[in-house]
This record gives sequence, structure tokens and C-alpha cells, in this order.
Amino acid sequence: MTTSVKIDLGERSYDIAIGSGHLQHAAAAIPGGHDGRAVFIISDENVASHYMAKLIGGLEGTTAGNVQALVLPPGEHTKAFRYLEQTLSWLLDHRVDRKSLVIALGGGVIGDLVGFASSIVLRGVPFMQVPTTLLAQIDSSIGGKTAIDMPQGKNLVGTFHQPVAVLVDVDTLQTLPRRELLAGYAEGVKHAAIADREFFAWMEENRDKVLSLEDVFVEQFIERNCRIKAGVVQSDEREEGRRAILNFGHTFGHALEAACGFDSSLLHGEAVAIGMVLAMTLSHRMGHCPEDDVSLLKGHLRAAGLPTAIRDIDPPIAVGTSALLQRMQGDKKRVSGTIHYVLSRGLGEAFICSDVSQDDVSAVLQESIDGVI
Ligand code: ADP
Ligand code: ZN
Repeated sequence: MTTSVKIDLGERSYDIAIGSGHLQHAAAAIPGGHDGRAVFIISDENVASHYMAKLIGGLEGTTAGNVQALVLPPGEHTKAFRYLEQTLSWLLDHRVDRKSLVIALGGGVIGDLVGFASSIVLRGVPFMQVPTTLLAQIDSSIGGKTAIDMPQGKNLVGTFHQPVAVLVDVDTLQTLPRRELLAGYAEGVKHAAIADREFFAWMEENRDKVLSLEDVFVEQFIERNCRIKAGVVQSDEREEGRRAILNFGHTFGHALEAACGFDSSLLHGEAVAIGMVLAMTLSHRMGHCPEDDVSLLKGHLRAAGLPTAIRDIDPPIAVGTSALLQRMQGDKKRVSGTIHYVLSRGLGEAFICSDVSQDDVSAVLQESIDGVI
């Protein structure tokens, strides 16, 4: 079964193809064909060991061997200036041109870095996303945000550069570590929580089938996520307004990731899971959101095996509420000194609010540290 979701952005429109066995037939997914075009695949060591040969096999035949591959180290540290430079030099050494196709084969790290490199080399060449983590398949590969991290913070330098196509092969999830799978799932919960209560109910019913990777359910899960994200991105491609609701749980989450030093004690999706519970609890405390919805969200994340409170982080974080608040103020999503919170009126209804008292934020952070929420 193959499903396709269109991202409608005028001349920058593209399709997300979702299904199994896609890598072996990757050539068919390249818009406008690829005969005579140089193809550059960039991946990381883990992903390349499983899937590089398969993808090359799926491209060759018609491209007559004109496929080159670069394999970078895995992990967040690769989303750095030095690997951006390495990638750019490699592309130029191999005579990339404006007709070439650059392919990002990997998770969000490779997608963000390669998207950035392809947006600036020769002032921009076409690129295709082949996401291999659940997080990248439902979130980071869609929407055209590219970035690297800087010593000052994550994702601080980047561009908007839409791919020409996104190819999601659900078979790749078979080798993804369980913890990474769950972290990606958290972003799916986020999409339901901000915009689609009915999808949340579907996830309540089918969570275990999705997480045990039953093909039909994983594909439906990815498709529905892509549709939600497409809707938001189409309404506000460059995050001048509504797109910011996709940051639900992220202001809290980023502060927690920073407090953990962006190491493996807390994955991004895990931080978002805790952040969403904090944002819902805050919304309830301010009278915006019914308590039942906070419990539903928390129960769903817990049953999936995700953390829901700061207390769940292992090893425990060594910072208190005031340090976390300070980190939140440093988050780049703030505008002219005010933190814009993404709050909730209930599952499926996120909204942006800048009128939030620090005392309320401190109180929910403290409850989460104490593990009482
Ligand atoms: P994210 O997509 O969450 O931003 P990364 O790109 O850092 O994360 O990928 C998370 C980790 O999973 C990395 O170590 C990466 O090499 C590994 N990885 C990605 N996709 C797969 C896969 N399909 N099978 C096995 N490991 C994978
Ligand atoms: Zn996220």
C-alpha cells in the first residue's frame, strides 16, 4: 500500500510518499525523472549500514552509476558547522550542479544538515528527504526547515528550503531503536493534541498496533500526522504566525534538553512529552483546559512508555525552577522579551498566549520536579 500526501505551497509543492519497499524503487519517486542527473546521497553510519546499498540499488539502472555517497558520524554533534563545511566541500569536489539531486537519508540530524547544505551550495540545489526515524517521517522532514546547531544553542543557523519530494519507507523503522521510536511517537501525540482530537481518539485505540509496527497502522499514523503538519505549514510556511503552534511542549522541552546538556539522558521527543504535560497542566491551572484532558494526555504518553514529569528524567537533572525559567527566556521562540507559550483549551485545540504569569510557570515546574503531576 502506498499513500501520498501533498504539501501545497504553490511552485514549491511536493508529495510525501508513504509505504513499504520504497527504497528499492526510489528512482520512481524523483519528480521530473533523474536520467543523466548526478545524485548525491548523504547519510550517517548507522543508517548507511542498513540502507545505503538498498537506496543505491533503487536508484541505479537508469542513472548509470552516477550516484555518490557520503557517510557522516551519527548523533546531534554532526549538526555542526564543521560537517556542513565537509558536506559542501564534498558536493563541490564531486561537481554538484543545479540539476543534481541531493538526498538526505537518515533522521532529523541528517535531514536538517543536508537540507541546509543543499539550500546554500550554488545558491540552492534540489534535495529529497528519505527520513528513517519516526520523528523525521512525521515531523522534521516536512515543512522545509533546515538548520545546524551553534555553541549558543540548537537550530540557530538555517534556512527555509523545501524538498522536491519526501520518500517515507516504513520498513526502515524495523531497525530503529525502541527509544527513538517512542520519542518520534511523542511528536505524533503533539500533532493530535494541537489540532485533531479525533486523531487522538484513534491513537488511544491503536497505540499498541502503531508501536509494534503493524504496517497498516504505522502508515495511517504517518499519513494523518503528515496531513496535520501539511495543514499548518501551508497556512504559514515561514512561521510568521500559526505555525508556532507546532512548538506545543517545546518551550518547556528545550529548557529540559538544555538542562541535560543535550545528551542521551533525554531525547528531543522525550523532552517534548514532558513539555506537553507541563503546557497542559499550566493551561488547566490558568483555567483554559479541563483537567480530564490533562489526564488523558498524560495517561496516553505513560502507556506508550514515555516520561511525563521532570522527576522521570534519569539521571535526575541538577537544576531548579528558576534556572529552567531562565533557559525558557533564552529560547529563540520569544519575541521582544515576551515568552509566547503554546497553551491548550483541551485536546485538539492549541493556542498561542503571551499573558502567562511566571508564578504559574514556576508552580507547574516545581510540581513536575516533585513528580506530583
Ligand atoms: P532524530 O530523527 O530524532 O532527529 P537522529 O537523526 O539523530 O534523530 O537519529 C537518531 C539515531 O537513530 C541516530 O543514532 C541515527 O543514526 C539512528 N537511526 C536513524 N534511523 C535509523 C534506522 N532506521 N535504523 C537504525 N538506526 C537509525
Ligand atoms: Zn520537536
